Amino acid sequence: MAKKTKKIETPIDQRETFVSIQKSFADSDLSVEEKLKTLYALQQADTEIDKILQLRGELPLEVENLENEIAELKARSAAITAKIDEVTKAIAENKHNIVECEAQIEKYRSQLENVANSREYDSLNKEIENQDLLRQIAEKNISEGKETVAERKADLEAMKEKISVKNDDLKAKKQELATIVESTAKEEEKLREAREACAAKIDARTMSAYERIRSSCHNHLAVVSVFNGDSCGGCFNTIPPQRLIDIASNKKMIVCEYCGRILVNPDFE
Ligand SMILES: [Zn+2]
Repeated sequence: MAKKTKKIETPIDQRETFVSIQKSFADSDLSVEEKLKTLYALQQADTEIDKILQLRGELPLEVENLENEIAELKARSAAITAKIDEVTKAIAENKHNIVECEAQIEKYRSQLENVANSREYDSLNKEIENQDLLRQIAEKNISEGKETVAERKADLEAMKEKISVKNDDLKAKKQELATIVESTAKEEEKLREAREACAAKIDARTMSAYERIRSSCHNHLAVVSVFNGDSCGGCFNTIPPQRLIDIASNKKMIVCEYCGRILVNPDFE
């Protein structure tokens, strides 16, 4: 069977060598032991914060998705409304055109009564025919426009209904989320304060390594203690004896050679 644990690049990655990070870790007002303890406390706070965030589950994402969907539906509604306005305007123009055509026809018809020759007669009739054709086109445009408006209005209604349903859903989910957030707000704030206090004591390079390990581990544990006397508390692989001695000494930052997590003395627990 393939080994489940994936070798993690960090903190020994392209940007940072482990030696340099170990050095910057040691170059500090805080003793290495204090720093390791602080890192461990930071991890504890982050784990508790993660638990609180997990309680919210998919709700924040669902709220966000609903908000996006509603925004999109609203944008589509606005586009439909604009289309309705445009077609309505075109209908009015066509109606105006019909009135003009009819006036023209009326004018040509009265001229027909006083024609001097057959050529004039034919020409007037041709004009009447043209105007009548234009009138028919305008009528066709109007009836098509009306159909479009009716269809679009139906679309708009359906859209409004959808928006209303989604809005109700959003309201309920927001309420649910607010209740959960409220019930954990104080605890979360305390944890975040504790986290910040720890983070302030740790140098930037170590912090960035910590964040990188955390984000690359599925359980978001960047700092683990020795498990069962000789195993990594993150990947449960056996730690070589020399490393165990180094960890127990609290004098060096040691990472698991399999998973890259920072290993600390189990006494910290
Ligand atoms: Zn490990």
